[in-house]
Amino acid sequence: MSDGSTPMAPAPGCTEDRPVLKERGQREVFCGLTGIVWLHRKIQDAFFLVVGSRTCAHLLQSAAGVMIFAEPRFATAIIGERDLAGMADANEELDRCVRQLLERRPDIKLLFLVGSCPSEVIKLDLSRAAERLNVEYSPKVRVLNYSGSGIETTFTQGEDACLTAMVPTLPDAAPGAAPSLLVVGTLADVVEDQITRIADKAGLGPIRFFPPRNSQDLPPVGPNTRFIMAQPFLTDTAKALTDRGAVQVNAPFPLGVEGTTLWLKAAAEALDLPGSHVDVATAANRDRANRALDRYRPELEGKRIFFFPDSQLEIPLARFLNREMGMELVEVGTPYLNRTIHGPDLALLPADAMLSEGQHVEKQLDRCVAARPDITVCGLGLANPLEAQGLTTKWSIELVFTPIQGFEQAGDLAELFARPLNRKTRLVA
Ligand code: SF4
Repeated sequence: MSDGSTPMAPAPGCTEDRPVLKERGQREVFCGLTGIVWLHRKIQDAFFLVVGSRTCAHLLQSAAGVMIFAEPRFATAIIGERDLAGMADANEELDRCVRQLLERRPDIKLLFLVGSCPSEVIKLDLSRAAERLNVEYSPKVRVLNYSGSGIETTFTQGEDACLTAMVPTLPDAAPGAAPSLLVVGTLADVVEDQITRIADKAGLGPIRFFPPRNSQDLPPVGPNTRFIMAQPFLTDTAKALTDRGAVQVNAPFPLGVEGTTLWLKAAAEALDLPGSHVDVATAANRDRANRALDRYRPELEGKRIFFFPDSQLEIPLARFLNREMGMELVEVGTPYLNRTIHGPDLALLPADAMLSEGQHVEKQLDRCVAARPDITVCGLGLANPLEAQGLTTKWSIELVFTPIQGFEQAGDLAELFARPLNRKTRLVA
């Protein structure tokens, strides 16, 4: 895709019969509390109160260590041993905690009570707690709840649960209004601003983003809403929006030049606008992005990559790295394969790419070590053991924290994979 040409839309119907290795067994993943790290930065008047244990507090603190110097917008209400033993009224404790918090922090307009493994063990009903607290604090503060507990989930599902909890609070779109576009999934502000500029230029605007930067500025939703996903891990959110009458727009994810172009064109099509508007509006952006990719292609072309299932970004990333950077896909693992959401990216993967869904970590480690890929994308827990065996790794969580969507970020995305390969080459030399 380095010649600046406009990519072709994927051939339809070629995802259904693709073989997928389905595995079940021990998994190595973070829990959904991790999503708080990027969600609290996005919704700037929200606060995330985890009702959990010291382990939950440590996970958050280390994942979001950079917040030490800022006024934090998350905390953990620790369930003590007395609460676990049922000796104290956890609801009373929680109410006291919330009262103290809201007295101290009048800037909070949206409070999430986030469930954890311990709160689920003691069967603390956070939806009833949220109802009770809403009676007391609404309309000044809205209280919502969701679960970030992590035994059977992946870390990106925390965002899905959070946004799903927010969907019922979105206002109804005015009946009879012209179709409008809603972009769903947390993006860095800089990426949102770029998408807004392009959308305005291509005639797709005004567009709205969900989650919003301010909890008071909720996008309306209804049958005239066309929503397009910016993140591939929002299955429940998509369903909740569809239940509100909104229409889902499917497209490859906006990673790289090809993905971003196809994503914008799908949005244009959903609004009955010709794709040529996108071509004209993005010519300079595509040119710049292609030149940025040209710089990293020699370092990535022909290199073999292995994806462990972790963030659910694996399939779109594999499509970008294979088609735009010339990398060879050894195995593309994903925690869950949602063919509606992943289908457009899946259709662009080479027919012989090995796909796996779910995880049996021991078997997958054996396959990875036997294949000796040039680079392996995996969770933090697997990176060190693989590095110890001489394999180069990339932490998948970094790809969720870093702005990688859109034309202007395409070069940065390629560099995220080129950098560890470079480091390895220098160490060996
Ligand atoms: Fe807390 Fe459970 Fe996540 Fe561990 S897995 S940090 S106990 S929510």
